[in-house]
Parts: sequence; structure tokens; C-alpha cells
Amino acid sequence: MGIFRQAPIRHKLNLLILLVSVIILLLTTVAFIVIETVSYKRAAISELSSLAEIIGANSRSMLVFRDRAGADKMLAALAEEPSIRLAYLFDRKARLFSRYAKTSVHLTEGDSSRGSLPGQVLQAIEASRGAHLFTSDHLTLAAPVIHDGQHLGMVLLQRDLSVLQKRLLWFGVAAVSIFGLLILLAFLIGAKLQNLVSRPILNLLDTVKAVADEENFALRARRGSGDEVGQLIDGFNDLLARIQERDSELHQHQHHLQEMVDLRTGELLMANVELQETVLDLGRANEATAAANDELQVVVNELERAKAEAESATLAKSNFLAIMSHEIRTPMIGVLGMSELLLKGKLDSNQRSLVETVHNSGDALLTILDDVLDYSKIEAGKLELERVDFDLRETAEAAVALFAQKAHGKGLEISCQIKPGTPESLRGDPARLRQVLLNLVGNAVKFTEKGEVAIRLSSLSEEDGSLLLRFEVCDTGVGIPPEVQETIFESFSQADNNTTRKFGGTGLGLAITKQLVSLMGGEIWVESEEGRGASFIVVVRLEKQERLRLCHRPLPEELMGGRLLLGSRHGGTRDMLLSQSAALGVAADSAPDLPRVLDLLRQGAREERPYRVVLIDADLATGPGGGLDSALTMEASAAGTRLVLLCRQDRRYEDLDRGRCSDVECLYKPVRTATLAQFLARVGKENENAPSPLSPLAGEGAADDRKTSGGRILIAEDNATTQRLLKILLEGIGCQVTIVDNGLEAVESAGGGGFDLILMDGQMPQMDGLEATRKIRERGISVPIVALTARALKEDVDICLASGMDDYLRKPFKQKQLQGMVHKWLDASPAA
Ligand code: ADP
Repeated sequence: MGIFRQAPIRHKLNLLILLVSVIILLLTTVAFIVIETVSYKRAAISELSSLAEIIGANSRSMLVFRDRAGADKMLAALAEEPSIRLAYLFDRKARLFSRYAKTSVHLTEGDSSRGSLPGQVLQAIEASRGAHLFTSDHLTLAAPVIHDGQHLGMVLLQRDLSVLQKRLLWFGVAAVSIFGLLILLAFLIGAKLQNLVSRPILNLLDTVKAVADEENFALRARRGSGDEVGQLIDGFNDLLARIQERDSELHQHQHHLQEMVDLRTGELLMANVELQETVLDLGRANEATAAANDELQVVVNELERAKAEAESATLAKSNFLAIMSHEIRTPMIGVLGMSELLLKGKLDSNQRSLVETVHNSGDALLTILDDVLDYSKIEAGKLELERVDFDLRETAEAAVALFAQKAHGKGLEISCQIKPGTPESLRGDPARLRQVLLNLVGNAVKFTEKGEVAIRLSSLSEEDGSLLLRFEVCDTGVGIPPEVQETIFESFSQADNNTTRKFGGTGLGLAITKQLVSLMGGEIWVESEEGRGASFIVVVRLEKQERLRLCHRPLPEELMGGRLLLGSRHGGTRDMLLSQSAALGVAADSAPDLPRVLDLLRQGAREERPYRVVLIDADLATGPGGGLDSALTMEASAAGTRLVLLCRQDRRYEDLDRGRCSDVECLYKPVRTATLAQFLARVGKENENAPSPLSPLAGEGAADDRKTSGGRILIAEDNATTQRLLKILLEGIGCQVTIVDNGLEAVESAGGGGFDLILMDGQMPQMDGLEATRKIRERGISVPIVALTARALKEDVDICLASGMDDYLRKPFKQKQLQGMVHKWLDASPAA
């Protein structure tokens, strides 16, 4: 089967045709032989039956009459029929009656008995239920002999079938010959016919091979017929046409592609060349960079070295400044303290002026010293802000009050207004805020010749826990030209040299201020026109205290019901007093001149709503003769209104003619809210003893020189001048003073007991103040110890407190600062 599959189609077709022909011929031949055999047998049976009938008919009488001879004769006539081989005639009892055998047949004795051949044949005929029997070469037929329905006997004939065999043999030979011929014919015809089918296929095959071998898609197979093979060829040709089309497109595309590839290759080559050039350039640049890097590294190293040197220099400078500050501050105590003492004594005007110059120069020197120290601290990054609770009003008013005397001395009005509703209980660094204010207010006073200096505070916005505080310090002074407005915030920068010569200064103040403001997360800028004054505006963020404190004692009920009248020609002063009254919860009206003050007083009296207190500017209240205006004193006394003069700090009003008002009091400007509250509270108490007329209430300008009830103070100080100053000042307020020169002696004296307060210098020979304090505390002595330190850094203060001291006083101190500190601790001590 495998070979057949591999065989060419032509052979397959030949073989198929041949096979079909052979099968048909074989079947035909077999059918023919079968038919021939059957018809021969039928003819033989028919002939033999006819013969048996004839013999039976002829033998009836012979059987009846038992004419054996006639029977034998009759049978012998069969010799004429060469195909009859044997003939038997049996009687009614099936006994052999006569017989005939062809001469060529040799009968044995047994053949005539019932057990012999005819007997067996008869049995076989009976068994096949027929009347004849075919054996391989004979046909045996038995036929009964009947006459009038009576069985007379039986005829048995046997015919030789060799003729049939011979015919069949001949027929076979003829059939094989014809078969062979037909096969040959079929082969020849098939071979011819298969060409019709196979040729177009072979043609197609040849074309396919050619196309495959030559890759020539232009070739086409020849179409021979319109049958399936023809359609196949058409399909194949069509396919070839399409492939050819695609092929040509592909060729074109390839061609185009090739062109593009060539183009790109060209470009790439160009780019490659350029790249190589760039690489070369880069290499050169790399070398240059490496060289530059090396140089840079050298520079960086040098810079790092320089930075380290600068840092250590800055540190050394800071340390140097700290030491210098200490060293300079100590003699300054003598200069300032002694000149302050001198000024309190009796001096003629010439001497007073000289001593004032010494004191003022000392003050200026101290300011410069503080500025330089601050600057170096900021530079060294050592300045840290505190975060403590403070009262904005107290801080601002105290700072402003410090410049009151100086401002008034120049004829300037100075005021501090806090916009009503501004939160005042804040948290931050009050000392630094104060320093900013002092710098700005100090400059404003310094650079203003006439007019006023006003400080205004307000809150710009408030969030949960913080507020944006805006404060502006405005003056009516020389102003700042626009071109220098930015540079004045730089270190050692001043608007112009003439100003410097005239007003003095280092040019550090604003630089420090700016640094402080930015440390507080804020901003500072200036708005100014030359000759029309300047406004310095600062915005800083501060925390609000969680619980709002009441900053002033509540005023008596009766005063709360009453009203205040404020008279001043200065708008700033009026606004300031109005805002203070609002802060204290007292109703107030204001008037800018005397006639309007009088009008309001009269109106109040008419309406039976008299003013409880009139706070009036001394300049407004004094008439041309130098005494208090008579109309004013008259109206005031008539209405039962308390008259209070707002006094400039550079004037004395002891000799003022009081007119009708004997209890006129004087408050120094700018009046602080706490002072006003204190005064109003006192006025409210009707039964209180009237204060001494025209004695000014405690203000920033007044020293706290109340006598103590004889406190015993141990002073540990090695500098003789400071010792002397402290002794004079403390004995001046009624204290008993014991002085020792060093820490060792201090420890010893403290051990002896009997002291209410110890003032301890920091640096002393043999044992310093810190060590001495530690020793005193180790011995269980709990007397308050206040450090007297010329070191100004916060960490110095912290070290003092950590050693067991209770408080500190910076050198050089003012008389009132020392006395305030002493009062603070003596009043607090249980012995006091
Ligand atoms: P100092 O006042 O010690 O010279 P500052 O840094 O405080 O240094 O001020 C720098 C300069 O800015 C001053 O020299 C002055 O020219 C100018 N300046 C500062 N405040 C005012 C002001 N209120 N009015 C006019 N000029 C001012």
C-alpha cells in the first residue's frame, strides 16, 4: 500500500484501470462458467429424464410379462447413445430386471445386487429427495415405471459427464486467452485514457516545480479542460498572479527600503563621525573638568580650612567679646552708679551738666557694648529666643516709658497706643521684643527734632493659638531717603555720614533688630519720605496664652460708673488714653483744647453727669501766668471733679499755682495703664487720705527709694568701686550691709547666719560666686542669693540659677534696678 501511495499518479491510474478490468473480466468469466455448467446440467437431466421415460414406457409390458430378453434388447439399443454409461431396470420389488453397461465399463458381480452401485445410488437419490444425483463425473437419474397408477418398477440411467468437463476445460482455456487479450486491451486503452486525466495534473506539477526552482512567478500552468483540474489550474494561476503582484510590490518596497537603509546608513555614518568628534571633545572637556575639579577641590579644601578658621575665629571673637563685656561692664558700674548718685546730690548747674554728660556717655557706651555683644551672639548663632508668658501692654509701655524723659527733653510728644481688642496675654521672648521696640523708639526719638513719636500695636490676624502682631513706630523726624531704605538694615550702615556725626550711633541697631525679627518669624520694613518722618513697621508671630490673665486689678464700682475727660492737643496722647480707658472698662471723652474741655465739663454738670476725673495735659491746663487756668479749676471744683495733670518728665510742677483745686495730682507722661489703673482705684476710695498735692505717682522716671525695714545684706564682691557703690545705695534705703572680698569669705559669713539676702558677684579670686553658692546650699542655708553678673548670655544666667542662686542682676545696674531687686527679695523673705 505504501508503494502504491508513493507511485506516480500515471501508474496509479494505469493500475486502477487494469484492476477494474481484471475484476470485471473475472466476474464475467465465472458467471459464464456457472451459467454454462448449470444449463449443461439441466439439459443433461432433461435428456436423461426423456430417455428414462421412453425406456419406462417401452418396458411396461416387459415388466408385466417379465420379458427379460426384450428388456435386455431394448437396453442394448442404448449403445447408440455413447454418453449413456449404465442403464438398469428394476421390477416392482426393486429387483434388477435388466441392465446395460457400455462396453468400456467393467461391472463387478456386486454391481447387480441391491448392495452394489445402483443400491447406493438409489439411497443417495432418496436422501437428496430428488430423482437425480451428480457425482464428479456422472449424472445418475432414477425414474419410476408407472402404468395406470400402478408401480411397475424403476429405470436408472447413468450418464457420463466427461463431455461436460471437456467443454468446461475448453471454455476455461478460451476464457483465459480472451482474458489475457482483454487485459492487454484494457491496459492499452487505460494508458491512453489516463493521459487525459494525468497530463494536466503533471503539467501543473511541472509548473509548480519550475516556479519553485526558478522562483519565477510569471510562469503559468496550461489549462486543458474545464473540469476540477482546470479550476485547480485557474486557482493556481490566480495565486501565482497575486504572488507575482506581491512580489513586485515587495521588490519595490525592498528597493525603497534599501534606499532608506542607505540613506540612514549615510546619516548614521555622519552621526558616528560627529559622535566621535564629540567623544573626543568630551574627552578633552573631561580632562579640563578633571583639572578644574582638582583646582576646585583645592579651593574647597582651602575654603573649608578658611571656614573652620573663621568659625574658630568667630568663637574666639564671641568668647573675647564675652570676656571684654564683663571687663568693661565692671568699671561701668562705677561710672554710671557714681554719676547717678552724684546727680541725686546738690550740684550747681555747671557741675550737674558735667556729671550728666559723664552719665549719658556711660549710658551710650553701655548701649554700644550691648549692641556689639548682641551682634556677635547673632553672628555666632548663639542667640536663642525664650518662650515665656508676658503681658504685651506692660512690655510695650515699659519700653516706651524709658525714652519719655529724652523725648520730652527734646520737646517731643511720645505715646503708645494698643488698639482695643488686641490680645495682650502672649507667649514669646519679651526681652527681645522689648529690645526691638527700644531700638526703633530710640532711633525715632534720636532722629526727630520736633513733633511726636507714636507707637501703635494691633493684631493683624488671629489663629487658634497664635496671632500676627503688627507694631509701627512713627516719627515726624528727618526721614530716610528712598535709596537707602533697604541698606539701613545692613550692619554698620547709616543713611548718611552727616546724620551719624550729628546723632551718633554705630549702625548696628537696625541690623540686630532685623535679625531678631526674623528669628521671631517676622518681617520689618520702613516707609518714609525724606524730611517727613519715618514709620518702621514690624510684623511678628506670637503665641497667645491659653488662659487670659486679667492684667489690672478691677476698678471700684463707683468709678466704673463715672466718666473720664481727657484733654490734650496731641492726637497720639488722646488716642493712647482713650484706648487705656477702654482697656480698663471706663467710659471716657476727649478734647483737643481748653475751651472744649471746659464745654464738656459744663455740659456734664448741666446734665448732672459730672466727670469723675479730668486728665489734662499740663501745657493745656496752665494759663499765661504760669498757674492753672482759673476757669478750669473753677469748673472742676464746682463739679467735684478730680483734676489730674499729665506732666512732661523734664519739668517740675512743684511751684505751680493750683488755684481753687488743692488736690491736683500729677501723672508723668506717657501714663502707663497700670499706673492709671492704680490711680483710678485710689480715687475710687472716697475715704482714702488725699495724696500730697502735685507729688507725681510712681512712674518710670521715679526711683524706688522706699526705705526697707532694715534688711541685712551680705555682699560678696571683689571690686572696691562696686563694693562702695553697693554700700552707698543699699544703706541709702536702710539696709545693713556686710562686705566680703571673695567666695570663701562669703561661705564663711553666710554660715554664721543673720543675713536676709546675699548679693554674689560671679567672678572672684580664691572661690567664684558659683562655687560659693553651691557650698552655701550644701550647708543647708536657704537665704536668697542674687547673682551680680556682667556676663550677659542666657546660658550664663542658667548656670547661675543651676548653682542654687535665686535671681540675677546684670551689671551695670541702675540704682532703681538694684533697689527693686532688694525690695523684691526682702519683701518676700519670711523675716520681712
Ligand atoms: P544707628 O542708629 O546706631 O546709627 P541703626 O542701625 O539703628 O544704627 O540705624 C541705621 C541708620 O538708619 C541710622 O544711622 C539712620 O541714618 C537711619 N535711621 C534709623 N531710624 C531712623 C529714623 N527713625 N529716622 C531717620 N533715620 C533713621
